[in-house]
Amino acid sequence: MMKVWKGIFHIHSNFSYDGKLPIEQIVKLCKKNGINFLILTEHIYDRDKKEFMSDGKIESFIKECASFSEEDFHVVPAVEIPTPDNKIHIIGVGIKKPINTDKLSTPLKILSELKEKNCLTVLAHPLKNKAIAILKEEELNMLNGIEIWNIKEEGRFIPDMQNYSSITKVANRYKDMFCYAGIDFHLSEPLSAAEMIISADIRSSDELLEIIKKGNFYFNGKFITFNSKGEIQKAPVSYIVYAFCKLLYGTKRILSKLRNR
Ligand SMILES: [Zn+2]
Ligand SMILES: [Zn+2]
Repeated sequence: MMKVWKGIFHIHSNFSYDGKLPIEQIVKLCKKNGINFLILTEHIYDRDKKEFMSDGKIESFIKECASFSEEDFHVVPAVEIPTPDNKIHIIGVGIKKPINTDKLSTPLKILSELKEKNCLTVLAHPLKNKAIAILKEEELNMLNGIEIWNIKEEGRFIPDMQNYSSITKVANRYKDMFCYAGIDFHLSEPLSAAEMIISADIRSSDELLEIIKKGNFYFNGKFITFNSKGEIQKAPVSYIVYAFCKLLYGTKRILSKLRNR
């Protein structure tokens, strides 16, 4: 029988300027919560975008991720790269070498640099600064995934359904583009808000990446479960109750969405 892996996508350790916990503590926290892989997505710049996470620092980050990976626990190193205007953040999953920072002036160049480094590319929080609308066709084409639910931006219970369906529609225009939920963990975001679930025999982080690349995963939140194409697999009674409560509190978007069903 294949093992079921539970993972977390989009976490910042203290390798990021705004991450609070060292990797070691995050790993402990994950193990305590029954999570057995995590994708750490470190910012490569500091707050003022002055100081770059130096090549040496990126290398020690990659090494540290490897040192916490074991037979049944994997830590995948990733970077979150902003465009110069900071409007668009692109995540490169599976980074193995330092980034060439001279090549990051446009989304296209960031994506090309990440592809050259054999990373999976995921657009983080696509609605923040209307990032998804700014990207050009050729850039969207180079993405492997879009975060259709960012817990930090949209809350930990359910994504905004109107946003959800509009982003999913864009993602589904591309055959090999998949839908992600990102915790965007810095310290206080609940780890178990959205778990990435994979059923497979996995022996290394490279194998894990291969499976993710093919879209063989789904996300499981408290009130919603969706597959890598964003199709909602399970919206249990609790979800309907939650949606109804939101409606009672005057969230018109949910109301109109429910009416359209
Ligand atoms: Zn970001
Ligand atoms: Zn982030």
